[in-house]
Amino acid sequence: MRALITGVTGQDGAYLSQLLLEKGYEVFGMARRSSSSDVVDARLRWLGISGKVEIVDGNLIDLSALLRVIQEVQPDEVYNLAAQSFVKTSWNQPLLTGQVTALGAGNILEAVRLIRPKARFYQASSSEMYGLIQEPRQSETTPFYPRSPYAVAKLYAHWMTVNYRESFGLHASSGILFNHESPLRGIEFVTRKVTDGVARIKLGMAKELKLGNLDATRDWGHARDYVRAMWLMLQQSEPDDYVVATGRTVSVRDMCRLAFAHVGLNYEDYVTADPAFFRPAEVDVLLGNADKAREKLGWKAETTLEDMMAEMVDADLFRHRARGA
Ligand code: NDP
Ligand code: GDP
Repeated sequence: MRALITGVTGQDGAYLSQLLLEKGYEVFGMARRSSSSDVVDARLRWLGISGKVEIVDGNLIDLSALLRVIQEVQPDEVYNLAAQSFVKTSWNQPLLTGQVTALGAGNILEAVRLIRPKARFYQASSSEMYGLIQEPRQSETTPFYPRSPYAVAKLYAHWMTVNYRESFGLHASSGILFNHESPLRGIEFVTRKVTDGVARIKLGMAKELKLGNLDATRDWGHARDYVRAMWLMLQQSEPDDYVVATGRTVSVRDMCRLAFAHVGLNYEDYVTADPAFFRPAEVDVLLGNADKAREKLGWKAETTLEDMMAEMVDADLFRHRARGA
C-alpha cells in the first residue's frame, strides 16, 4: 500500500507517517519548499523515521503541483493534513487561510478525482467548526457555527469532501478531530506553549508565562491516538464522517495546573494574563461525542491528559537541556 500525506512536516503528518510505516506502507509526504530545508524534517527525525518517508515537492495552493504529485505517486490513500492550522493567525491572514485551508482541500480533491479516483481520501476537519456550540456534546449531527476564518475555511473543506463523495462517488471521509497535542505540537498552541514555559521556568531560563483566556475549555487528546482514527476511517468499506474526541473537557487553567504540578510548581506563581493572546472571537468550550467512532471504527482515546502533559513537559525539559540550558 502506498500513502500520500500532505502536511507531512506537521505534528499529525509525523505520527501518521510512523503509523503507516509500521503497517508496511510506502509513505510519500508532500512538503512545500522552504528556506529552512535543513530543519523541515525535524518532527520526522524526532520519531526516528526521517529517511523512511519519501518527500515530494508541492504546495496545496498549486493545483498543477498536486496533479503532478498524484500522477507520480499513484497513491492508494491520500491524507490531506496540510493547512494554515493556527486559529489566531487566521485573523491576521484570513485570505491566505482560505486559499490553503479551504481552496487547498478543493484542489487536492480535484486532483484525486481527475488522476486517481479510486484512491481513498481523508480530510482533516476540525472541532473548531462547532465554534459557538449548538449542543453541549458535539457529534456528527451537531450544527456548525464557525467563529474564526480558520473554522470557516475548514467548513468549506469539510463540505467539499462530503460533496465529492456524494457527487463523484469518491471514497472521501472527513475526521472531525478535537484538539490533539503531543511533544510535536507547534509551539504557538496553548498546551505546548505551557509545557515549553514550564520547562524554561524549571530550568531557570524564564520567570513567568504570559497567556490569554484561561477559562476556555477543550477536549484534549494525544495525536498518536488520533492518527489511528484517520487510518481506520480509510479501512472501512464505505466513506463517512466521524468525530474523534476523548469526551472530557478541561480548562486552560486546569491544564496549566497539571503541567506545572508535574515539576512541583504552582501555576499561579508564574502565569500572567496578556491581552495580546486573547482572540477577537472565542470558542469557549468544546466537548466531543465520539460514540460513532467507537461503535463503527472500534476507536477510543488511549492517553489521559495527565499522561500527555507529563510526556510533553519531559520532552521540553529534554530539548532545553540538550541545547545546554
Ligand atoms: P501543523 O500546523 O503541525 O501542520 C500543518 C502542515 O501543513 C505542515 O506540514 C505545513 O507545512 C503544511 N502546510 C501549510 N501550508 C501549506 C501549503 N500551502 N502547502 C502544503 N503544505 C502546507 O498541523 P497539525 O499536524 O496539528 O494538524 C494537521 C491537520 O489537522 C491540519 O489541517 C489541522 O488544521 C487539522 N486539525 C488539527 C487539530 C489539532 O488539534 N492538531 C484539530 C483538528 C484539525 P510547513 O511545515 O511547511 O509549515
Ligand atoms: P485552538 O483550539 O485550535 O484555537 O488551539 P489553541 O491551543 O491555539 O487554543 C486553545 C484555547 O486556549 C483557546 O481558547 C485560546 O484562546 C486559549 N489560550 C489561552 N491562552 C493562550 C495562548 O497564550 N496561546 C494560545 N494559542 N491559546 C491560548
